[in-house]
This record gives sequence, structure tokens and C-alpha cells, in this order.
Amino acid sequence: MQKNTNSSSSTKESGVVPEVLKKSIKRALETPSPSAVTASSLFKTILVARQPVEIWIVVGKDSDYIVIPGMYCSCPHFQIKVVFRLTDEPCYHLVAVELSKKEKRYYDLTSQIDEKILYDILYEALTVGRSSSLRRVLYEEDIEP
Ligand SMILES: [Zn+2]
Repeated sequence: MQKNTNSSSSTKESGVVPEVLKKSIKRALETPSPSAVTASSLFKTILVARQPVEIWIVVGKDSDYIVIPGMYCSCPHFQIKVVFRLTDEPCYHLVAVELSKKEKRYYDLTSQIDEKILYDILYEALTVGRSSSLRRVLYEEDIEP
């Protein structure tokens, strides 16, 4: 087993084991369960930032979740089960982002979203669970939220 020595130490401090998570996401992509596929088609995946990391928002019917591919999701499943290692199953949102990247089926709004709007979106997603700022951008871009 090769150890990854050249990558950042910051990922190690996040409390999650990205290697394990990455493997389980890969597994979920290779053999996506029917429920994961169904779920992913119900979400809209939106790329909102590229720097310093890719930040995605997965827009569901009731809630918006912040996803950093292979690393993080703001949903309860991830916060509780993955972070505390009760399961190594990634949440649907992490899989949905990977699937939509693979199938190039996502919205890239990085040029429409500046730092200020990005902050508002992340803040609203984390506090209210739903971002009206993002919905405003979607509306302006003629994307049905
Ligand atoms: Zn999630």
C-alpha cells in the first residue's frame, strides 16, 4: 500500500479519512445502487467555485447542500455517519456530484457568482438549509430551481 506523502496535511485534520471516502465514492460510482441513481437525477448539481477548492451546491427539493468533491458534504448523513465513521457509504450528494461531472450534466455558474454571492450562498445553505441567493442566480440564468 502506497502512502500519499505529497498531498496536503490539511485534509488529514478534517476528521474524515479522504482515502477511505474516495474509495467508497469510487465503488458507488462503479456500481451505483438504483436509489443513488434515482436520487442523483432528482438533484441539480451546480458548480459555484473553482478556487481554492471546487465547491458545488446540490439543490434538492427542500434543501441545498454544500459539496466539496471527495471530501465533504453539509448534509446530516455525512455530518453524522461519515464523519463519525458509522458507515463508509458516501451520501447521495457526493455521488451525485461525481455522476454529474462524469456525464457533464451540471450547471457551471462560477462566472456568475462572485465572492460576495458565494459567501451568501454558503451562509444560507449552512444556516437556513436553502439558499435564496443561489435561487436568484438560477432565476436570472433561466434555470428552473
Ligand atoms: Zn450529502
